[in-house]
Amino acid sequence: MENCCCSSSCCGAALVCPVCNNLGQSVPFETVKSMVRGNTPAEGEFGVCLTADCDVVYFSSNAIFHQADVAVPIAWKKGASPKYVCYCNQVTEEEIVRAVVENKAKTVGDVAKATGAMKNGKCLINNPKGTCCHKDIENVIQQALESR
Ligand SMILES: [Zn+2]
Repeated sequence: MENCCCSSSCCGAALVCPVCNNLGQSVPFETVKSMVRGNTPAEGEFGVCLTADCDVVYFSSNAIFHQADVAVPIAWKKGASPKYVCYCNQVTEEEIVRAVVENKAKTVGDVAKATGAMKNGKCLINNPKGTCCHKDIENVIQQALESR
């Protein structure tokens, strides 16, 4: 891609889920290695599928890992239970909603204090997206505030 601003990993066909054909998100190999149970996958460029009703979690040009291959429930997939938002401290969507409704938490900081989320985060190996849960917590707070 000529106008691409990034290095090799974030663009191109490799990030389209081969099963649902939706655009996924780039995920560090470290994350895939720590999440997939059993044999260590071959190193490569991996994407994560964000589609709720697609069973694929990670994919690369020569490998696909489904929910059953992954050690933790994938919160954004249909039927996931429990729905972890902060994987490092195993804080669920339900606990965050409760912090907003019962403890009047309004910010990520409030939620962190009430639930213990984001403490000693090791998102690279604990969060299936390989990224910090900060944004996901914000989204849950937003939804909880709107429905209050
Ligand atoms: Zn998919």
